Amino acid sequence: MRYISTRGGSPPVGFVEAVLAGLAPDGGLYIPETWPGFTREEIAAFAGRPYAEVAAAVLGRFAGDEIAQGDLARMCREAYAAFDHPAVVPLVQLGSDVFLAELFHGPSLAFKDVAMQLLARLSDHVLERAGRTQTILCATSGDTGGAAVEAFRGRANTRIVAMFPDGRISEVQRRFMTTAVEDNVRCLAVAGDFDACQAILKTALADAELQRSVGLSAVNSINFARIVAQSVYYFTTAVALGAPHRPVSFAVPSGNFGDGFAGYVAHRLGLPVGRILIGTNANDILARTFRTGLYARGTVAETQSPAMDIQSASNFERLFFEATGRDGPGTATAFSGFASGRDIVTPPDALVAMTAIFAGASTDEAATTREMQLTLSETGEMVDPHTAVALSALRRHPAPGPTVVLATAHPAKFPEAVQAATGRAPETPARARALAERPERFEPIAADAGKVSDYVRTFAGG
Ligand SMILES: *Cc1c(COP(=O)(O)O)cnc(C)c1O
Repeated sequence: MRYISTRGGSPPVGFVEAVLAGLAPDGGLYIPETWPGFTREEIAAFAGRPYAEVAAAVLGRFAGDEIAQGDLARMCREAYAAFDHPAVVPLVQLGSDVFLAELFHGPSLAFKDVAMQLLARLSDHVLERAGRTQTILCATSGDTGGAAVEAFRGRANTRIVAMFPDGRISEVQRRFMTTAVEDNVRCLAVAGDFDACQAILKTALADAELQRSVGLSAVNSINFARIVAQSVYYFTTAVALGAPHRPVSFAVPSGNFGDGFAGYVAHRLGLPVGRILIGTNANDILARTFRTGLYARGTVAETQSPAMDIQSASNFERLFFEATGRDGPGTATAFSGFASGRDIVTPPDALVAMTAIFAGASTDEAATTREMQLTLSETGEMVDPHTAVALSALRRHPAPGPTVVLATAHPAKFPEAVQAATGRAPETPARARALAERPERFEPIAADAGKVSDYVRTFAGG
């Protein structure tokens, strides 16, 4: 299995290289040269199998012969043993045709653990084999950093630097990063918003010299292995609800469109997916794009669902590439133009291809608050503000047949917002309670790519 860049200007690489590199040298994102697939019978046979086994089967299709299937199976078992629910991603029924997929049973209480626990084992495994080390630079809108630090702290072949937008993430989110005591972890509080952090990351990753000298890598959702790991719960939940014999729809709280694109991957692998409803908060770039085809940045608004306060959804580049019939040069022009401030007009055929499976809806702050209240009073379930954004979108845009709503964070990760909406404090799992007492360690830094690169060089060299 080989991986090509969405911008068409980089040589194809193998799975291991695509996992370690993150971004392709031409600035594009890696995507498989051809899509693998499962037959209906193979998908039907996922029913009732342990989560880790389905994960190993899906990963195996993308790793090809680069990683032994036995090693993959072991890494999947270890990754999902870190979850505190035997189903790993349990389903909870909310209504006759609405189900919550609880993605928050991992160590940092958010869905990013699902991919990160696996990615950390996968990359440590291939680094060990190659006698290499890496430095992960991570830009987080809240939950990626905690999940990445939880997954990589103490690993032998990896250093990790987590950047977060200073003052724009919750205390619990921050503490998952800043209380790590391991020597291979550093945290930077960047004076800017998440888009500024992401721009710094992209600049650093495009710096070939830096990449070589410190073994720079990314674990943001631009990393294709993460997307693959996230496509697994589309399979397990859909199969539990009758797929492949009937299609299942999804509602996804979305920011960087990693989770949403993982649904597209499941669909390309053969899973019959009805509709994927992309729920955004007030930062509605994707909802607007699926409505009008115009991918145009707005100003970032701060909301109670901060992990989605994003006005440039990196993984949209992958969908654009696919929907334009894999037009590498066209994708390169569109997205390098976007990086320098221009809007993208999605070609009409491509928009038709996108909206054959995706729809978008945005939810404002008042409706998010109301949704947390309504869900609690109607179903007895407390949900976090991110999950509420998707539930509210689904309430206004229901689909025929069963719909799985991705519950991306535990309500205790956003206690203030949940309490303000429902009048009740969510119960904090023991894992998070322990964090409140530990000392924090982080350094403030300007929103300046050069300063961050210098910091990374010094850390990796010392
Ligand atoms: C990261 C995150 C999202 C957004 O996921 P994307 O893959 O970036 O679209 C939604 N909810 C929570 C709680 C998150 O941490």
